[in-house]
Amino acid sequence: MTSEVKNNIVIEKTAHSKLSQADFSHLVFGKLFSDHMLVADYIDGKWQTPKIMPYQPLPYEPSAKVFHYGQAVFEGMKAYKDVNGQVFLFRPEENFKRMNNSAKRLGMPPIPEAYFLQGIKELVKLDKDWIPTGPGESLYIRPVYIATENAVAASPSNSYRFMVMTSPAGKYYSGDVKVKVEDKFSRACDGGVGYAKAAGNYAAQFYPTEKAKKEGFQQIIWTDAREHKYLEEAGTMNIFFRIGDKLLTAPTVPQSSRILPGVTRKSIIQLAEDNGVEVEVRPIEINEIIEAAQNDNLKEIFGAGTAATVLPISGIKYKDFYTDLPQLKDSYAERFKKMLMDIQYNRTDDPYGWRVPVL
Ligand SMILES: *Cc1c(COP(=O)(O)O)cnc(C)c1O
Repeated sequence: MTSEVKNNIVIEKTAHSKLSQADFSHLVFGKLFSDHMLVADYIDGKWQTPKIMPYQPLPYEPSAKVFHYGQAVFEGMKAYKDVNGQVFLFRPEENFKRMNNSAKRLGMPPIPEAYFLQGIKELVKLDKDWIPTGPGESLYIRPVYIATENAVAASPSNSYRFMVMTSPAGKYYSGDVKVKVEDKFSRACDGGVGYAKAAGNYAAQFYPTEKAKKEGFQQIIWTDAREHKYLEEAGTMNIFFRIGDKLLTAPTVPQSSRILPGVTRKSIIQLAEDNGVEVEVRPIEINEIIEAAQNDNLKEIFGAGTAATVLPISGIKYKDFYTDLPQLKDSYAERFKKMLMDIQYNRTDDPYGWRVPVL
């Protein structure tokens, strides 16, 4: 194992790359991990020097607080390779800010910016050959931040670990996506942790989502916990509705603490507005969507998130109401997905400065 220090990061390269055994023609999302990971420990009130090392199991005791109290937050982002082999991140500073907002809500100390941004750049640089280059392919980047103190007392941990792993990701394929508007279970409530990428938010979704799947729906549209009346998020994506030529999406922080402020959502709002599409960011009532569907005004529903970029919804159910959504020729979903991906893969100008070169 060779070791060097670059940008204050200790880099220990693997002596046994797994790259030659990796099957890039059958990529299953989030199953295959590249050679290295980044780790930075917070001990006794101080961040230790971050380290890039071979991807490997962790050394924690069963009493580590993360296992008991779910003091854990994560992020999701991607690295994209262009036709010339140049590698880019997409708005990584947004993920950095959001991770620290999530951490704050869970009582965790902030991660230094350099560890996150420089750390991820060095990690991606080192494993750049793991970035697949087929259409729609990328390297998924998963930062995760956990409480590591060995103690079962229910109080914030005094030690933490920030880690980043990367995983080659194929083109997102979902098939038909029909959604069920959830009117019983909730994923978030006012004053809760819905706006944070807290690990426990996802555990809370699994049971209702599995139930919906058994009923023939691939995703849930979450509604507000108080009245189950306002449409908030689709599974782990933000959601957009097109009524006539207008685009509607629910507000995030500071107006609502229930909804995750997605980078994809924010980027689509900007692209839409800059391309003459009116966007209303406001609470959306289920009744309004049903009425629009009955008047033939509901044109599209799509989810937005890093994994899928944009995911068109083909049907929506709420109690006894169900409607299919038409396949439009020039859909907003396709249009904004293409605009976003053209920026991400360096196929067009980037007037916003969203693309951040890695090498
Ligand atoms: C991550 C996530 C999103 C999408 O955020 P992006 O930054 O666009 O990937 C939306 N909703 C939830 C609940 C999420 O966890």
